[in-house]
Amino acid sequence: RGTPSEQWQEYRGAPTGTDLECAGWRQEAALRMLNNNLDPEVGEDPENLVVYGGSGRAARSWDAYDAILDELRELDDDETLLVQSGKPVGRFRTHEMAPRVLIANSNLVGKWDDWEHFHELEAEGKIMYGQMTAGSWAYIGTQGIIQGTFETLAELARQHFDGDLSGKITVTAGLGGMGGAQPLAVTMNEGVCIAAEVDEERIDRRIETGYCMEKTDDIDEALERAREAAAANEPYSVGVHVNAADLLEGLLEREFVPDVITDQTSAHDVLDGYYPSGYTVEEADELREDDPEKYREESVETMERHVDGILELQERGAIAFEYGNNIRGQVQDAFGRDDAFDFPGFVPAYIRPQFCRGKGPFRWVALSGDPDDIYRTDEAVLELFPEKEHLRRWIDLAQERVQFQGLPSRVCWLGYSTEGEGDGELTERARFALRINELVADGEISAPVVVTRDHLDAGSVASPFRETEDMRDGTDAVADWPILNALVNCAAGADIVSVHDGGGVGIGNSLHANNHVVLDGTELAAKKARRVFTTDPGMGVVRHADAGYEDALDEASESNVAVPMRDE
Ligand code: NAD
Repeated sequence: RGTPSEQWQEYRGAPTGTDLECAGWRQEAALRMLNNNLDPEVGEDPENLVVYGGSGRAARSWDAYDAILDELRELDDDETLLVQSGKPVGRFRTHEMAPRVLIANSNLVGKWDDWEHFHELEAEGKIMYGQMTAGSWAYIGTQGIIQGTFETLAELARQHFDGDLSGKITVTAGLGGMGGAQPLAVTMNEGVCIAAEVDEERIDRRIETGYCMEKTDDIDEALERAREAAAANEPYSVGVHVNAADLLEGLLEREFVPDVITDQTSAHDVLDGYYPSGYTVEEADELREDDPEKYREESVETMERHVDGILELQERGAIAFEYGNNIRGQVQDAFGRDDAFDFPGFVPAYIRPQFCRGKGPFRWVALSGDPDDIYRTDEAVLELFPEKEHLRRWIDLAQERVQFQGLPSRVCWLGYSTEGEGDGELTERARFALRINELVADGEISAPVVVTRDHLDAGSVASPFRETEDMRDGTDAVADWPILNALVNCAAGADIVSVHDGGGVGIGNSLHANNHVVLDGTELAAKKARRVFTTDPGMGVVRHADAGYEDALDEASESNVAVPMRDE
C-alpha cells in the first residue's frame, strides 16, 4: 500500500475551520470525513489506512488516498466522483441534487463472494475491505458505537433486570475500535464489566480515553475487584490482558457465572481479526506472516473454545448474546457446530423493535472542529424532543463521559415517527436535520454539520448473522433492501452514498448501504435533508412491514408511510 502519504502526514486528522480546500462544502465534507477516519485519534491503525474492525480501510493505497483528495479538490458542484474499493475510478457531470461521491466497497458476485477470493484480489491490490463506516468515511471513533452499545445493554437490563445493570457483572472481550465502547456502555448503565483483550496497547488506549477504568493480567484480581464493585452497586470496568477463550475457561474453573456474557473480538475475520490462544500478539502476528494456514486453524480452534465457554456460561445461568462479529457462524462453518447458534444475536434480542420504527444510530459531525457546535446541537435535540426522557439521559451522560475523538460528533437514535409537535409531515430525523440546517444558516453553528449514520441501521442492511437474523418471513438473506436503500437515497439527494459487502460479519455475509447529508445552511441542503431523512428511516419501516412485523405496520399507519399491497 506504500508509505503514508506526505499530505496525510501533514493533516493527521481532518482540516477544521471555515476555509475551504474544495469548490464547495459537499466536496469539502468528503475530504474532511476521509481525513477524520484516518486521524490517529480516531482510526485504529491509520499508517496502514486501517480505520477499525480488523482490516477495514478508508482508501485502498496511499496513492489512491492522494488521488481521492486531488479529485475532491477538483470536483465541481454538479459532478460526481466514483470510488471503487477505496480507489477513485471516474468522474461524471451529473447535477446539484445528485451525490458528490458514490462509493462501492468489497462487493463480489455471489458465487465468488468469499474470503478466499477476496484475499486473492486484495493481495493483487484490486479490492479493499471497507468494513462499514471505514470505507464510507463515516467512522467517528469509539464514540460512534457507544450509544448503540449503551442502548443494547439498557434494553437487556429492561428485559432481564430492574432497568439498569447495577450490581450485575458483564463479561466480554475485544477492546478495539467498536468493542472498546463496551466497558463505558456497561458503566453508563451502572454495571460492572470484565473485558478480555490480548493486545495491552488497546487496553491502555481505552483507559487513556476514559472508556475503561483499570487493567490487570490476573483473572483472580479482576474477579475480586469486579465482585467488590458489584456488591457495592458501583460502576466498574477492568480490561484483562488475556485471550477471551482463556478468560472464559478460567471463569468456569473458578465456578464463576457472570450475569451477562458477550464478545466483540474481530471474529468475523479468522486471519486478520481474531487472535489464537497460546501466543502473544507479536508471536501471533509473526505466525500470520509465516504460516497463514496454521494461523487460521489455531484461530478457529480458539473460537470454538470461546463459543463453548459462552454456551456453558449460558447453561449455568448467564444471559448470552453475540455482539455482531459472527463468531457463531465461524464455529458453525469450521466444525459443523449448529449448536453455536444456541445463543441469540443482539439484533433480534434487543434492537429489531426499534428498526421496525425506522429508529437507528444517526450521527452528526461538526466540520468546524469546534466542540461548541456539537453542544449547540445537543441543546437543539433536547428542545425538539423534550418528551424523550431517555434521550436527555443519553445526552447528559455523553457530555459528561464521552470524549470527542477527531472532529466533534454526536450519536443518537431517532426514527421515522412523524408524531409530536411541529410539522406533522416531518420525520424525527428530518425535524432534527432541518433545525441544524437553520442553526448553521443563522450562524449559531459556526460551519456546516454532516449528518450520517452507521451502516447498521433500520433499512440499510441484509445480514443473516446480524441485522436480519431470524426475520419473521425468512428473508434474512434477501439483499435487495440495502440496494434499494442506496438507490432511493441517491434519488432523494444524499451527498455521499455507499454500498458495501462484508462489514462486521465478513465477506459474503452481508450487504449494506450508507449516506451523508451536508447541512450547510442552504435551501438546497434543506431539500436534501427533508427527503433523505424521510426515505432513509422509511426504508426501515417498509422493509420490516414487508416482513410482517406489527410494529412496522403500525408505524406505517401512524406516520402515513405508503406500503403497497400491505393487506396481501
Ligand atoms: P478491532 O479489530 O478494532 O478490535 C478487535 C479487538 O479484539 C482487538 O483489539 C484484538 O486485539 C482483540 N482480540 C482479537 N482476538 C481476541 C481474542 N481471542 N481474545 C481477546 N481479544 C482478542 O474491531 P472492532 O472495530 O472493535 O470490532 C469488533 C468486532 O465487532 C468485529 O467483528 C466487528 O465487525 C464487530 N462489530 C460489531 C458492531 C456492533 O454494532 N456490535 C459494529 C461493528 C462491528
